[in-house]
Amino acid sequence: MDTHDISWQVMISEEDIQRRTRELARMVDADFQGKDLILICNLKGAFVFLADFCRELTILHEIDFIATSSYKGTTSSSGVVRIVKDLKSDINERHVLIVEDIVDSGLTLDYVRRYLSLHNPASIQILTLLDKREARKVAIEADYVGFVIPDKFVLGYGLDFFEHYRNLRFIAEYISPE
Ligand code: 5GP
Repeated sequence: MDTHDISWQVMISEEDIQRRTRELARMVDADFQGKDLILICNLKGAFVFLADFCRELTILHEIDFIATSSYKGTTSSSGVVRIVKDLKSDINERHVLIVEDIVDSGLTLDYVRRYLSLHNPASIQILTLLDKREARKVAIEADYVGFVIPDKFVLGYGLDFFEHYRNLRFIAEYISPE
């Protein structure tokens, strides 16, 4: 796939992402004050958001990573989810906040939440930067949502187009050539 010269238009600016990330961090600061918090980032897409979000948090927290298979270089959901990188931390009786880039069909998050709940955490909550609510195939909602967006393929700020463009500072809608 030649990913040069693709078209996009900015959907969410760098400034709006920064402002909303600060707001989300203030909420999480307040809600998890005094709790043993571990952020679990679902790779790869959420790594950019995690890096900015955790630096806005003022409460103590740990970070760990999990990786699931996702779209595998296409722009529509395969519906197949599997863990490709497991946790290193013990989450037994700890407060888990799953950090996601985007919830689309909800299949990934549903799977990750069930998987983590097998490890007996004190609680599991979900933080997602983007929520494509209209695309949901399973009933799952995040506890903290950055932006609700339409059912469009987006890239940038950690989200890829065939593994490229994760480094864009903003979120853009992919414009299909046809
Ligand atoms: P779900 O299982 O909710 O359908 O999809 C979740 C995963 O699919 C996300 O973590 C992300 O990796 C990928 N994904 C969903 N929508 C988009 C999108 O619009 N753009 C990109 N780049 N990835 C997406």
